[in-house]
Amino acid sequence: VPELPEVETVRHDLSALTIGARIVSVQASHPRTIRRVGDPERFAAPLRGETFTAWRRHGKYLLGDLDAGQVLVVHLRMSGQVLITDANASHLAHTHVVLGFEDGREFRFVDPRTFGELFLSDGPSPAELAHIGPDAYLSLPSATELRSAFATRRNAAVKTVLCDQGVIAGIGNIYGDEICHVARVRPTRAAASLRPVEVGRVREAITSVLTAAVHARGSSLADAQYVDVHGNAGGFQAHHAVYARANLPCPRCGRAIRRAVVAGRSVHWCPGCQR
Ligand SMILES: [Zn+2]
Repeated sequence: VPELPEVETVRHDLSALTIGARIVSVQASHPRTIRRVGDPERFAAPLRGETFTAWRRHGKYLLGDLDAGQVLVVHLRMSGQVLITDANASHLAHTHVVLGFEDGREFRFVDPRTFGELFLSDGPSPAELAHIGPDAYLSLPSATELRSAFATRRNAAVKTVLCDQGVIAGIGNIYGDEICHVARVRPTRAAASLRPVEVGRVREAITSVLTAAVHARGSSLADAQYVDVHGNAGGFQAHHAVYARANLPCPRCGRAIRRAVVAGRSVHWCPGCQR
C-alpha cells in the first residue's frame, strides 16, 4: 500500500514528465474510480485541453495543478498505480482512467482493487482534504505539538496515532513500524505514556525514515502493489528493520522480531531494543 515515500516518488516523476503536457483525450472506464463525479463525461470535460503546471502532494494525495486553476486529485489508496507510457504501450488490465497528452504519451491510472480515486477540485487547497493533518515530510509538527497530540490520545497505541492521517499525514503500516524501531519505542505502547525525550526520538525518526525511504524511491513488497510511473519497484524494502520481518533477527540487537495486531493493524517490533 503506497505511503508518503511512494507517493512522493510518483509526484517527483510526474513533475519531471508531465509539467507542460496538454491533455487532449480523457477516458474513464470504471465508475468507482471517479465516484465523486459519477458521470465519465462530467469528469472528462473540464480536463480536455488543460495543461499540468505543477504536481504537489499532501500526505498520500497527489495534487496536479491545471492551468485553468483546478486541481486533479489522485489518491492511490490500496493498489492504485500511475504509469506514464507511450500510446502504443500494451494495455494493462485494471486501467480505469487514461489521460492522453498532445505528444502521444499517456497518463494511466491502474487499480485492481478500485479503492483509489481521481477527482477535480476548485482552487489550490481542496476542501475534500481539509480533514487531513500536516504533511509528515513537508510540515512535521513541532515536538510540543506532537507531545500534545500523543497526550490527548490516551488509550491509543503509538502506531495508531502515527498512522492517524488527521494528526500527521502520510504514514501507514510500513513506516509506522520502521519509525518506532528507529526511535526505540514499542509501537504497541499507549501514546500518552511516552516521555518527552521519547516523543523527540519519534519525531526525529519520522524525518530520518521518510527521508531515507524517499531517496530509495519507496518500498515495493511481494504483492507488487506499488511501482513507480515507469513500472519499476522501489528499493527501501531492503532496508526494513521490522516491517514484515516477524521471527527474523533485529538488525540492531539480533532478537527475533515480533508481530501482533493492534486496532486492526499489524504491528512489528523488536522486544530487545524497543521499550
Ligand atoms: Zn532489536
